[in-house]
Amino acid sequence: MNYRLTTVAGGQFGDEGKGKVTQNLASQFDIVARFGGGPNAGHTAYHEDRGKKLHKVVTHVVPSGILSRNVLINFIGPGCVIDPVLLQKEIQGLMELGLPYHTIYLSELTPLITPWDCKLDAMMNGAIDTTRRGIGPTYAHKRHRRALRVGDFIEYVKSPKTSQSWDLFYQESNRYKDVYDTKAEERLFVSIEEFEPWFKALVWLTKNINIAKKNFFLRDGDVHKVLEGKKDVRILAEGAQAVMLDNTFGTYPFVTSSDCMPSAAIGGIGLPPGLTTQEEVVLVFKAYSTRVGNGPFDTEIEGDLAEKIRQAGGEYGSTTKRPRRIGWLDLPDLKYAIELTGATKLYMTKVDVLSAKVVSEVLVCVRKDSDGKPTEWKTFKPFDVKGVKKDTDINGSLFQFISFLEESLGQHVDVISVGPLMDDLVETRVTVM
Ligand code: GDP
Repeated sequence: MNYRLTTVAGGQFGDEGKGKVTQNLASQFDIVARFGGGPNAGHTAYHEDRGKKLHKVVTHVVPSGILSRNVLINFIGPGCVIDPVLLQKEIQGLMELGLPYHTIYLSELTPLITPWDCKLDAMMNGAIDTTRRGIGPTYAHKRHRRALRVGDFIEYVKSPKTSQSWDLFYQESNRYKDVYDTKAEERLFVSIEEFEPWFKALVWLTKNINIAKKNFFLRDGDVHKVLEGKKDVRILAEGAQAVMLDNTFGTYPFVTSSDCMPSAAIGGIGLPPGLTTQEEVVLVFKAYSTRVGNGPFDTEIEGDLAEKIRQAGGEYGSTTKRPRRIGWLDLPDLKYAIELTGATKLYMTKVDVLSAKVVSEVLVCVRKDSDGKPTEWKTFKPFDVKGVKKDTDINGSLFQFISFLEESLGQHVDVISVGPLMDDLVETRVTVM
């Protein structure tokens, strides 16, 4: 079996609309997989039920491919971390909408976020302002070789002697006591009442979704069984967060704890590299910028204008509802993201937000000094996307804006998005390059 991989990644600080782009591409793929992150991600897409009613669906760790009937496997890879309570809730929500939850496979190698990790996250939060969902501590424990993984739990409940939740509770609470000093102990205290729902959720998950074994992509694994006879398997890797939040290449230390670069997809899914061809890297960015949490944000807009854009773009976290910080498009950062990922396709979203109702002009930061201070801007009139359904409908300042981007980036902007729905994606090739 050969694996043909396309990866969708965020080109800025996350929340660019990757969920919708993944959903849009998913029908061409056999497998959609998440390779990093946990319930700190929130991908928003829309599902039309049989009665044509539209439902907003926010996925956190389940791949957005769940919204496409053609996808045979939606894989939560070993590079992710999961919170059983939140994942159960997420999957039950998908079940209620009649979505094909039986296509979900969770890797037995995926580390579990425990209630202690969430407390630890809140305690260590400091300057970074995380989602406090225990993601950082779980990744750290994985590297420390102390994390509990899905497969460990399954082994644990299989054993007749230790199938009581309190056994695991004591085992885990002692494990944390070993590592953190006694002053922290009180703040890290988890009661059995807090632990029970976590344990029950894990039991529920292991009964209701497929667990992918270590050999998932090998000849004797489930992928070969499900996709029997296929020589070329098409995989869409759905990135979470974004280049500027990547643990290595982002604005460290104000970054997320996982690897968000497309280069992490092969490892975070567990694809055999020698049998995998990276076909496309799709980079998604907004026509402006947003950032959640602290850290450098060179093109940040403050005050009333930021608030207007925030309202118009609905810029509140889909996971935590935190208001997002707002800024203009940062071309030097975008170039960095494009070069670093080797993006082969560019999607620009939320173009509709920069209309005359919201802004009097649209700015793009063209150059910055070595401290990241913008030194050169380009200005455009607000965009009018009314009636923009296809390439040739793009005109006026939006046309000028896209041509300017294409010339500056030396690359086409392949698709723009002029609204939240799937129909609002418009393929575009403005300049002849
Ligand atoms: P992700 O994490 O990258 O998938 O992004 P989110 O789902 O957190 O944020 C994207 C939000 O923008 C969602 O609420 C989408 O419905 C919405 N959205 C996506 N594209 C557009 C667009 O072109 N215009 C507008 N107005 N909203 C969009």
